[in-house]
Amino acid sequence: VKRTDCPLDKDELGRSTWGFLHTMASYFPDKPTVKQSQDMKSFLQIFAQFYPCEPCALDFQEDIQKHPPKTKSRDELAKWLCDRHNTVNIKLGKPSYDCSKVHERWRDGWPDGSCD
Ligand code: FAD
Repeated sequence: VKRTDCPLDKDELGRSTWGFLHTMASYFPDKPTVKQSQDMKSFLQIFAQFYPCEPCALDFQEDIQKHPPKTKSRDELAKWLCDRHNTVNIKLGKPSYDCSKVHERWRDGWPDGSCD
């Protein structure tokens, strides 16, 4: 059995999930409707209840209670999510990520064309 056919461990799950969440934020509408804005808030609250790593989910629920989702625009959501990821990075002793780079990292690719 290949390693990629095995259940995800905490770090694999984390990497895949951040990839999904940041990509979703980078493609969120610039000008969401009121409903899109509310639905994204609900999605994130529900996500936090069911994220399948219990200690991760409990800390994330607490963090987003202190810092509720910001969903008025793509940039606002991407920055909010980057800040939440940085809270986890710092908790784990990792460096904080430069949030001005999230759209290059997760949507546009780097200006030097290395992702084309
Ligand atoms: P990851 O942190 O998974 O990041 C993947 C890539 O995202 C990086 O290579 C970088 O290119 C980019 N990136 C890094 N920081 C940012 C940022 N701030 N904004 C945008 N992009 C960024 N693990 C635990 O051990 N304990 C926990 O409590 C815990 N809680 C978690 C809560 C959630 C909601 C999620 C999704 C994951 C959690 N994890 C937790 C997993 C942890 O965050 C990492 O995913 C895991 O440690 C693997 O880390 P990594 O170094 O491969 O990079």
